[in-house]
Amino acid sequence: MAKTYKAVEVAAAGSLRIVERPIPEPGEGQVLIRVEACGICHTDSYTVESLFPGLSLPRVPGHEAAGRIEAIGSRVSRWRVGQRVGVGFFGGHDGHCESCRRGDFINCQNLTVSGASVDGGYAEMMLADANAVVSLPDSLSAIEAAPLLCAGVTTYNALRNAPLRSGDLVAVQGVGGLGHLGIQFARRMGFRTVAIARGSGKEKLAKELGAISYIDTQTEDPAATLQRMGGAKVILATAASGSSMGPLIAGLAPRGRLIVAGASPEPIQVEPVHLIFGARSVEGTLTGTAVDIEDTLAFSVLENVRAMIETVPLERAAEAYARMMRGDARFRIVLTTVQ
Ligand SMILES: [Zn+2]
Ligand SMILES: [Zn+2]
Repeated sequence: MAKTYKAVEVAAAGSLRIVERPIPEPGEGQVLIRVEACGICHTDSYTVESLFPGLSLPRVPGHEAAGRIEAIGSRVSRWRVGQRVGVGFFGGHDGHCESCRRGDFINCQNLTVSGASVDGGYAEMMLADANAVVSLPDSLSAIEAAPLLCAGVTTYNALRNAPLRSGDLVAVQGVGGLGHLGIQFARRMGFRTVAIARGSGKEKLAKELGAISYIDTQTEDPAATLQRMGGAKVILATAASGSSMGPLIAGLAPRGRLIVAGASPEPIQVEPVHLIFGARSVEGTLTGTAVDIEDTLAFSVLENVRAMIETVPLERAAEAYARMMRGDARFRIVLTTVQ
């Protein structure tokens, strides 16, 4: 058996390189995963561009990893060798901080983040905390599952945890990696789903994914259109552009919420009166824990939600990452390994 594996690491900010590393033994509470597929997520840029707080290099990015368990460390009871599993952004929690003591593991003050605080899935092998591992349903391939491990759970959790009732008006801003999943989840959860994006190019697709209506921000004011429809109970903002989010707030119904899922360094401008009148709010949503991901996968199987995927061999990760950053991915790139 090979003693080494291929990984794509960030050794200096802004560049990815292929390296051979010795295959590690899983430690206590860890499993070793043979990665078959790993999605490329926009948040990987926080590792690649070295923006993640406290990041130490070299680091292997990737938090949408799917494959099989290769080996198991001590004190791991839930998993077995050969089992099909995945790992998302949530890489484990410390179990003893204030948030963890209150059961809020995703907000752990010492959260382990796959591909940022520990090495992730741009590799043939990765170690993972047994608490962060999720079981994959038989009916999803590793490639199909990968984008659901971050983009999927992020949009699914944001919607299912929002104070919504079936039939409510829900807008999804952005028809990209996150948004194209958000539209599918919103519609299949029973919401009147509206897609918002720039230009008319994505209208047809948005409607195929389940949107009942499409707002082109180049030709209409999204807030005015949403108000004509009665006001959105939730706007799920997935575009990686803070400046495009502020103008949406006036389109919310009373007590409506702008839920921010798209990470961008740009500020969101908010007019205080738009929050005060109607008691509207702006809030963030941060992915989900391992069991949230399992719920996402189960719902995706039940309601046939799938990401639109293009696959690229792991060796071409740098080129694929650059294409994602230019906004050219349609809609999720998944790196694959030859096993
Ligand atoms: Zn992600
Ligand atoms: Zn904690």
